[in-house]
Amino acid sequence: MSQIRMNEHLAGAPEYRPGRTVAGTIKLASNESSDGPDPAVLEAIALAAQSANRYPDIRAAALTRRLAEKCGVEPERISVGSGSVALLQGLAQAVCEPGDEVVFASPSFEGYPGLVQARGARSVPVPVTEDQQADLDAMAAAIGPKTKLVLLATPNNPTGGAVRRADLERFLGKVPGHVVVGLDEAYREFVTDPEVPDGVEIAEGRGNVVVLRTFSKAYGLAGVRVGYSVAPPEIARTLNLTRAPFSPGAIAQAAALAALGTEDAMRERCRKTVEERERVHQALLDHGFVSTPSQANFVWLPLGENALAFAAHLEQHKVIVRPIPDAGVRVTIGAPEENDAFLEAARSYQP
Ligand SMILES: *Cc1c(COP(=O)(O)O)cnc(C)c1O
Repeated sequence: MSQIRMNEHLAGAPEYRPGRTVAGTIKLASNESSDGPDPAVLEAIALAAQSANRYPDIRAAALTRRLAEKCGVEPERISVGSGSVALLQGLAQAVCEPGDEVVFASPSFEGYPGLVQARGARSVPVPVTEDQQADLDAMAAAIGPKTKLVLLATPNNPTGGAVRRADLERFLGKVPGHVVVGLDEAYREFVTDPEVPDGVEIAEGRGNVVVLRTFSKAYGLAGVRVGYSVAPPEIARTLNLTRAPFSPGAIAQAAALAALGTEDAMRERCRKTVEERERVHQALLDHGFVSTPSQANFVWLPLGENALAFAAHLEQHKVIVRPIPDAGVRVTIGAPEENDAFLEAARSYQP
């Protein structure tokens, strides 16, 4: 028998389960953009690829500076990483010791439990309310002496609801100052509710709020792996120590920098996605489905125990979606014809 004893915290850690890709089907399972990258981004990627024999700037200074300008904060507060999941992992590592607790909504981002457990920390999932919103009162009540971190996705993946300003301020007011709040704004660019605040603004003057954002969703660069965070300087310093040296790579840094120069095109893509989101949501309601309002690039059907059956039915009609067993089904907004194919397939579902 092997003498090797691996890190016990990793032994039972759940693997991240990606949305399935099945040849010859429409994939609406991973909240990706259905559009390919902007030509300016492709050009920047090609240019960066020419120097792929060289290590990238270890501090990602150009990208960091540009993000600091965009967010209106000091560059010291920005961290970049290989997707916001890398920053979430880093945050758990920076903040938690083994045995500490991390509070988040359930269902929320599927990546949370794995990165919490890998750190040797314990997940404290707090069920969403009947109307599928993060239960902020219950989450505040779940904060105990061992809690070090709260992860709040707004809009929430997979349920789509975003937290409004008054609710968020009230919640943050209840979180003790020594507990870090990770405001996960992966879908920030799709928010249309004017009551939903900008996380960076909310974080201003608070010593315990970290905002996480990504180029994977609105910027359509999921395959490139680049995200960023805005944190109080002290947290950012420690967070930067958790980063694998030279990540994100040169191509990712260049792609993100170029993408920041195409914000108008990005906003236009988001506008179309939002238009489709509202159309799909309304069509689902018209067909008699329950679907809660979404502020993200997907819609949510709280189908409970029928989630897997509904997803299987759609797959028979060549549409791949994301079921969360016993909770519901998340459907990414794709191109209009892809959304039509989904609605057509959904219409023939018999519970
Ligand atoms: C997609 C997603 C992320 C991770 O995105 P990256 O591709 O790692 O940048 C983080 N949080 C939520 C809520 C997400 O849905």
